[in-house]
Amino acid sequence: MRCSSVLVDVCTLHSAMPFVHICGVCLVCAELGRATWTFLHMLAAQYPDRPTRQQKRDVKQLIECLTRVYPCASCASHFKEIIK
Ligand SMILES: Cc1cc2nc3c(=O)[nH]c(=O)nc-3n(C[C@H](O)[C@H](O)[C@H](O)COP(=O)(O)OP(=O)(O)OC[C@H]3O[C@@H](n4cnc5c(N)ncnc54)[C@H](O)[C@@H]3O)c2cc1C
Repeated sequence: MRCSSVLVDVCTLHSAMPFVHICGVCLVCAELGRATWTFLHMLAAQYPDRPTRQQKRDVKQLIECLTRVYPCASCASHFKEIIK
């Protein structure tokens, strides 16, 4: 199916910058998602088998912060539900 719908919408947490949506997909959010998944998977890959208390705390805080500051508001809210 060919989709010709290109619209500009606002889906940022800070709602300052309109993000381009194509066929209902936010391009900036998709790119942001790919970059964040790469970061999270690299973080997980180098995470020690026996983490210290500090390392556990750091990662827990990082994930919790992501649910608050992630630049796509709806993704942040979905992520918050998932990690509950
Ligand atoms: C915290 C967070 C919340 C998000 N919430 C939403 C949302 O609510 N709605 C929405 O439409 N999109 C959301 N996204 C974006 C979405 O997950 C995709 O990143 C985006 O749609 C791009 O899709 P893609 O097909 O290129 O997949 P990718 O972003 O490339 O990958 C998606 C999947 O592949 C896995 N993956 C990626 N890299 C690796 C790797 N190196 N090793 C193993 N597995 C890997 C990820 O765990 C993920 O399950 C979110 C992303 C993040 C990081």
